[in-house]
Amino acid sequence: MIPKSFVQDLLNRLDIVDVIERYVPLKKAGANYVACCPFHNEKSPSFTVSQSKQFYHCFGCGAHGTAIGFVMEHAGMGFVEAVEDLAKGIGVSVPQEASNTPQHKVAPDLYELMQTATRYYREQLKKTPRAIDYLKGRGLSGEVAARFGIGYAPDDWQNLKPAVPNYLDASLVETGLVVEGEGGKRYDRFRDRIMFPIVNVRGQVIGFGGRVLDKGEPKYLNSPETTLFEKGHELYGLFQAQKAIRAQQRVIVVEGYMDVVALAQHGVEYAVATLGTATTPYHVQKLLRLCEQVVFCFDGDRAGQKAAWRALENALPQLQDGKRIGFLFLPEEHDPDTYIREFGTEAFEAQLDDSLPLSGYLLRELTAQLDLHTPEGRNTLLQKAQPLLTAITAPTTALLLRKEVAALAGVTQAELEALYAIKPVAAPQRAAPAKAKRAAPSGLRILLRCLVMHPELARELPAEWQAEGQEGAAIAALADWLRESADETSTAAMIQHFQGTVHEAVLATAQGEVMQLSGEFDVAAEFSGVLRKIRIDAIEAEIAALLAGNLGGMNKERYSRLSDELKQLKAPAA
Ligand SMILES: [Zn+2]
Repeated sequence: MIPKSFVQDLLNRLDIVDVIERYVPLKKAGANYVACCPFHNEKSPSFTVSQSKQFYHCFGCGAHGTAIGFVMEHAGMGFVEAVEDLAKGIGVSVPQEASNTPQHKVAPDLYELMQTATRYYREQLKKTPRAIDYLKGRGLSGEVAARFGIGYAPDDWQNLKPAVPNYLDASLVETGLVVEGEGGKRYDRFRDRIMFPIVNVRGQVIGFGGRVLDKGEPKYLNSPETTLFEKGHELYGLFQAQKAIRAQQRVIVVEGYMDVVALAQHGVEYAVATLGTATTPYHVQKLLRLCEQVVFCFDGDRAGQKAAWRALENALPQLQDGKRIGFLFLPEEHDPDTYIREFGTEAFEAQLDDSLPLSGYLLRELTAQLDLHTPEGRNTLLQKAQPLLTAITAPTTALLLRKEVAALAGVTQAELEALYAIKPVAAPQRAAPAKAKRAAPSGLRILLRCLVMHPELARELPAEWQAEGQEGAAIAALADWLRESADETSTAAMIQHFQGTVHEAVLATAQGEVMQLSGEFDVAAEFSGVLRKIRIDAIEAEIAALLAGNLGGMNKERYSRLSDELKQLKAPAA
């Protein structure tokens, strides 16, 4: 666990303008910096960076966050990875807080060792005509082989012995390059195999996949999980594909590294592969951060069908409205490698365009083999759909699928929601941006703006402070958070803390508004003014309710107390 105070400190030391400029050139515009948004296609810049507040906000697509958030989104890194990357950039090391999970301490020499092995395997490939012929036979050019760092592990037990400083060093076993047999005898894990280095998003080799050249078992052999390599987190080819994924706003997830490489050879450079595991929720989240559309491409056989369904199950909680997930099933005798070699790039991309949307795939599988003309069939549908529908949190997607399943089962949406004991989703309210801008912001909105500018102000809220709605909840959460920490906090730390929480969206709106405020916004005056106004409104509303009802003894007392408070609030400041 990275200590919270470190994150806060890191955000204080970084300058978001420097961080973003490493990826996107920024132009000064008034108090802020602007650029064409790296997260959506646009011709005039709506991506805005506030240097004073250390956050960014895109008025086109709504992307927002801190320097850490930017690196996560832009490079597809996880939180820890992004923090480590940024800390390294300014020469600070990340302290670790003791926690129950064992710490992954990665000595830099493990990466170096993997790099040494990669170089060695690459050299061996050049010296081995049989391996070169194999790759040529699969249609690979030297260029693509070099791009993916493909090599060859010779058919010997201790290939790496002359390549590394000390074959007996523990690091060789730790990285999975070498296996220790009974009696402590060591030998190379990979022998007589084409070697595919597995690279993390920073371009460091963290593992290998090895494929046999002809017959032999297993056909594919991967590095074991090590301190460097966590299978459920990594995707083969992501490092090489990142740029194309951004440009095309699309990524294909295939089953094997040979598929990734073959697709790249044919100009489809936005493919990645899972590494001998099912697609995990983490994978889906990582990919959805990078682009608009994820297409899972599986072989047409039974194993492929099963893998696709697992991918669907793991994708459901990660769905985001407006982002698309598709499924492509190739003819049974094909995988992406053989398909693109036989039919070419255009035919393959046409297949991608026709991929089955997630909702279509879900409904097709749910209703397969069910007779929906019978109550029993409809009952089974409702049972099968429950865990899937309840896993979806994206409001529009959830709404549409609930409606469809309800219609198929012959019940209403409300009945389905009651049956599943899930909260109803209403049609999302279409915000009319032009109109919303003209309407005067509510008191809570102004309060939120003040808090985005000076989170510390939340300490001045009355302890029992509460208000309704999402804005009220966000303000209350902010106040709670500040009460728990003694340190002075910054806007960026606040944004970072609430990233990924239910309050993120409300705060993001306020961040966007703050970006557009002119210099005349007097935070302290606005803050106390609006607090007073909110209190007056609340008292007046309660008084009105008291007057409309029956004024019993208790109520009378309350009434006079409220009236007094109101008088004081309304009295001109002395
Ligand atoms: Zn944008």
